[in-house]
Amino acid sequence: MINDIVAGQLGKISVLLELEGKDWESKAFRDAKSTVKRLERPVSSLYEDRGHDGLKALDDIGSGIASVIADYLEHGSMAKLDNLCERYPDDVFDITKIRGVGPTTTRKLLDNLSVETVEDLKQAAENEEVRRISGLGPSTEQKIIDGVETLQSKEEAVLLSEADRITNVIQRVLTGHDSVNEVHVAGEQRRRCETVSELIVVIATESPRAVHSLVRRHEFIRDALDKDENSVTYAFAKGDVSITVRTVAPSQFGSALFSLTGPEDHVEEVHESGGSGDFEDEKDVYEAASLPFIPPELRDSGEDTHKVNPEQSVDIVDKDDVRGDLHVHTNWSDGRGSVRDMVDAAEQQGYEYIALTDHSKSSGFAGGLSSDELARKNEVIETVNDETDLDVLKGSEVDILNDGSLDYDDTVLRQLDVVVASVHSQFDMDEAAMTHRVCQAVKHPLVDILGHMTGRLLLEREGYDIDVGAVLQAAADHETAVEINSTPRRLDVSADTARRAKHLGVRVVINTDSHSPRSLPSVRYGVDQARRAGLQASDILNTKPIQDWPENMSF
Ligand SMILES: [Zn+2]
Ligand SMILES: [Zn+2]
Repeated sequence: MINDIVAGQLGKISVLLELEGKDWESKAFRDAKSTVKRLERPVSSLYEDRGHDGLKALDDIGSGIASVIADYLEHGSMAKLDNLCERYPDDVFDITKIRGVGPTTTRKLLDNLSVETVEDLKQAAENEEVRRISGLGPSTEQKIIDGVETLQSKEEAVLLSEADRITNVIQRVLTGHDSVNEVHVAGEQRRRCETVSELIVVIATESPRAVHSLVRRHEFIRDALDKDENSVTYAFAKGDVSITVRTVAPSQFGSALFSLTGPEDHVEEVHESGGSGDFEDEKDVYEAASLPFIPPELRDSGEDTHKVNPEQSVDIVDKDDVRGDLHVHTNWSDGRGSVRDMVDAAEQQGYEYIALTDHSKSSGFAGGLSSDELARKNEVIETVNDETDLDVLKGSEVDILNDGSLDYDDTVLRQLDVVVASVHSQFDMDEAAMTHRVCQAVKHPLVDILGHMTGRLLLEREGYDIDVGAVLQAAADHETAVEINSTPRRLDVSADTARRAKHLGVRVVINTDSHSPRSLPSVRYGVDQARRAGLQASDILNTKPIQDWPENMSF
């Protein structure tokens, strides 16, 4: 969206002006950035209609900044930004993100050292070149080294499920302890991002020292990597992750939790709307900004905070809305539980139904079932069905073959209640071929659900080349549901794609693709993903009782 691009460029100008010590001008550009971001209509159409005067009529935009914006709209770049950039290394925007190093220091560093990248700067600090600059000393060097490491470690993310596992340990240590009033995770983890690069726990306490000594004593906590008055970053003994434990006074807990949850843009916007100051309860931050409370999962959505519809934000789908799982494996193929085990697990989960969707015959690596084996498994399901209140549905995760045809004949597929179609082979097709392949399956009248659409594995493998828009359109046209696969390393489709699906009227299903009875609770990760997409229960097929399913899925 043009407004985001223009706002981004104004923001960069603001950062560079701050480096130059032009604080006032920097603030003017920062404010203008917020105005453009909040604008209801595209700034380009405003300019077309009303020209320079139209821009100048906006809040916080004077004649000078209006000209800079007009420059971009006319020429596709801002001469002011280009001129400023000429004086700085390419990496300047990353360099300004180094934590603990303010603009004045950054300016001194850039004036006195010849550095192009953050890595160069770290080298200079390690070579003790920084202390030779007047006014800077060894402590600045240490801050640079630590700050660059933190910045670089951001690429070393962990899966959300792994982040949960780690912070659960910390939360268990702290919860219920005398000196601890409240404990909450913040950052990407609280926003339920797919991967987490910075683990943050916020603690309300009157005795920070007691809290930190408690944390430090835990067997999983190694050295303190970084420390300031209120927070300590510790290395975690299992894996290469660090965790920042931030202590705040109870009267500031709400505002600290809010700020540390981020993302930065959202925090900035709420602060500028009046939500700054100390609050015990996070809800009061939003109230002070005259905004509805925005669930953390929606704070990344990029949609203008001021446009969030209060009903929409409280009504997003919840874990308790899910009534069943439509993609589950048993030991008939590569699962580790019997039909009975998986049904018991589904009962424990409080479900009304479960579809047992083992692999089809071409997935030899995963113990795919021949049509005879499938028929025998279906008999077992019928027996178990008689013994339980739960609806146990006959299903299959059918391979989509290279040409887009399915791995079972229609006669076999007709015996099933739920057909999930997925790609498990030849991932390296070009986009056109892969899109055609998947669309063929989506259009098949006996296919109910498209499984893990892109095949990506987070932190391991990109998805295959596929035109997501075309697949979603085919799903909309043929009333095929699209899965959010809750397996933490898949989370496929992404929140963005799920949001697009909703807008196209495509039904979404949240499945776990469980291969063991213990995996059914991982549905929460799929629900998190759906919440990030702003989905409501009504957008999701498996929040409905079977009798309310659409006609083409009835059996
Ligand atoms: Zn699969
Ligand atoms: Zn599967």
